[in-house]
Amino acid sequence: MSYRVTLIPGDGTGPELVQAACRVLEATGVPFEWDVQEAGECVLAREGTPLPERVLESIRRNGVALKGPITTPVGTGFRSVNVTLRQSLGLYANLRPARTIPGVRTRFAEVDLVIVRENMEDLYAGIEHEVIPGQAAESIKIITRAASERIVRFAFEYARRNGRHKVTAVHKANIMKLSDGLFLHVAQEVAAQYPDIAFEDRIIDNMCMQLVQKPELYDVLVLPNLYGDIVSDLASGLVGGLGVAPGANIGERWAVFEPVHGSAPKYAGQNKVNPTATILSGALLLRHLGETRAAERVEAAVRRVIGEGRQVTYDLKPTPDDPTAVGTQEMATAIAAAL
Ligand code: NAD
Repeated sequence: MSYRVTLIPGDGTGPELVQAACRVLEATGVPFEWDVQEAGECVLAREGTPLPERVLESIRRNGVALKGPITTPVGTGFRSVNVTLRQSLGLYANLRPARTIPGVRTRFAEVDLVIVRENMEDLYAGIEHEVIPGQAAESIKIITRAASERIVRFAFEYARRNGRHKVTAVHKANIMKLSDGLFLHVAQEVAAQYPDIAFEDRIIDNMCMQLVQKPELYDVLVLPNLYGDIVSDLASGLVGGLGVAPGANIGERWAVFEPVHGSAPKYAGQNKVNPTATILSGALLLRHLGETRAAERVEAAVRRVIGEGRQVTYDLKPTPDDPTAVGTQEMATAIAAAL
């Protein structure tokens, strides 16, 4: 039996990155059948929307998707494809592991964080209006018991399944006593049901300072949407930036795996950018499918190739104009060979 996976090549550098990731995933020996579904800028002119219904239907049918980054059309009246995908499929948990890879230049040697971001509500609910046109505007922050409980439970379940020891809930309940207060209160209630996992909470500003001073003290962080968006980029920065940051959007029934970075359109078609983030997103997909051993092999192969430092893209070399840098596909070939 093979796994049928929706494959969204995306825009800009997306198609070449997804091609590289598929090659590595196939080299694990796990059988895949790719259901290729184009979305984004590339289909907007042809199909009148950047996210045709057939793409959502394919994910609903297959359960999982591997996605390249998609350019957000500016000034077309269409909402971001990424936001629409998350909303339409109820992908409520955004999972972003941030782990140091030896060979990637960073300030800290041992960061191993997992950021769990609530993906559906908070200030991203999109409820905004002008109170006085041009003078005052209002955005409404929605925090519900149901969504808070669901995301905190996700963080604890993830911790339990993956041998992690501590969950930290991050909030600003000292100021937003009702909204963040509810999130914190629910987090404490859920934590009491997981006595095997340590629990603590941090105020968001203090959390940011602690993360850039002593990130090794933290393990799994769970955050409402906006703080999660910001802190997950901070965590990516701690381990070497966008080229190496994988991500997943997970719901009750469906899941979409994609790198954190965007479509980097200025490098499109140049076989230049780093495939690591997309390949590691593929490893998260393997874990989601229960193919844990294959996921571990992919992660180990990535670490080996980056650790050796030879067959890597320009951004992982000591200087970006290093003539020994290899291309996207060559790095993927080296990772596949290291499996
Ligand atoms: P970006 O992440 O595409 O690129 C910013 C810079 O980061 C690049 O110029 C490059 O220097 C570096 N970079 C990114 N990916 C890299 C890689 N794999 N290897 C090496 N270096 C890499 O961000 P942007 O320019 O702000 O966004 C471009 C487009 O992507 C926008 O339309 C944006 O909306 C979209 N976007 C999509 C997603 C998604 O699909 N999930 C996420 C973020 C941004």
